[in-house]
Amino acid sequence: MVGFIRALLDWRKLENQTLYAMVLATTLGLILPDLAQYLKVVGDIFLRLLKAVAIPLVITSIFVSIVSLGSLKELRDLGLKAIAYYTTTTFLAVLTGLIVVNLFFGDNTPAEEVSTVQNFQPKEVSLEDFLVSFFPSNIFQSLAEGKIIQIIVFTILLALGVLAIKETLKGKETVINLFEGLNEAFLNVAGWVIKLTPLGVFAIVYHTVAVQGLDAFSQLWKYALAVVLGLTWHAVVNLGLIAYLLAKVKPHEYFAKVREALFIAFSTASSSATLPVSLRIAQERGGVDKKVAGFVLPLGATVNMDGTALYEAVAVMYIASMYGIDMDLTKQVIVLVTATLAAIGAAGIPSAGLVTMTLVLTAVGLPLEGIAIILAIDRFLDMLRTSVNVWGDLIGAKLISNLQRKRL
Ligand code: ASP
Repeated sequence: MVGFIRALLDWRKLENQTLYAMVLATTLGLILPDLAQYLKVVGDIFLRLLKAVAIPLVITSIFVSIVSLGSLKELRDLGLKAIAYYTTTTFLAVLTGLIVVNLFFGDNTPAEEVSTVQNFQPKEVSLEDFLVSFFPSNIFQSLAEGKIIQIIVFTILLALGVLAIKETLKGKETVINLFEGLNEAFLNVAGWVIKLTPLGVFAIVYHTVAVQGLDAFSQLWKYALAVVLGLTWHAVVNLGLIAYLLAKVKPHEYFAKVREALFIAFSTASSSATLPVSLRIAQERGGVDKKVAGFVLPLGATVNMDGTALYEAVAVMYIASMYGIDMDLTKQVIVLVTATLAAIGAAGIPSAGLVTMTLVLTAVGLPLEGIAIILAIDRFLDMLRTSVNVWGDLIGAKLISNLQRKRL
């Protein structure tokens, strides 16, 4: 433990510089918000660099991972493990959220007067649209629009198609070599971008704090507290136990190794933008097998969102309590199922959870306008839930990597 604390204080480490940058940016953002406008450009460039390598990395990592697995059977095995992990932990997250919220808003009386943002236009998401949205009809459109889940489905098909090419054809090896080379190249670029994180994170956090301020907290503190407590419990206890008992790693030590990715997740509020960093760091420092990281992390960044699922459950219950609507056990079971689905459907971008929450609200018959109540502090909660999303992905990658190694 002493070693762990000492590691957290070593200022020469990039991860610690990022942490100091976050603390400094928060303080200055509150004291001198006017300076934030000058930093916006730095934050924007950093974010664009991350996003620029994210999609190429998703494609090449998944491709390389599948071809190195070598067969449909191996892919099925890895895929089933990943899906089992994603669904169990997401379900556990929603359950945690519901327990916390019942302790908090169990009395069902509107807690406090809340103002809503008037011009908010919610869009309903149906289950059919949600299922169809997994499949691309035009891959170039999916790429241009950054539809990661469609890109993943397409890449899996492409990789399986390449695996099915006859060994005698030269083209097979050429395509595989090309993707392997590109994957290494993009990982190198990700490594360079990581070197800029203290600066990038400083700019992003400074700007966010300056723009958001603390005002909304005075109204929504009870709701925010419930989300924060739920997320902390899930990250530390639920996922911590999974890491310790199943993945056989000490959670605090693993955290110390991969924390740079979590800091980026916190400041960008985007699992997808964090992906280049988590992919590189999981392999380089976290000891996650390349084959596993390349498949499980990109998929997890868009499908496995424990933080989002938990937050959606708490938010929906809070909105119900604001309208004075009783949420009996049946309705809570509906929340449990739909929040899990809604989190799976959420893209790894800021505020995505807010959009898919409409699925949960519709399922339990709550007005979609209710979302406006919680909008004012969503960015801050988004930063936290994205960190938990990425933490869940990284633990999943470690667990599955260890399980795969044992099989060999
Ligand atoms: N921002 C989250 C993520 O990228 C998704 C959400 O809005 O909950 O993981």
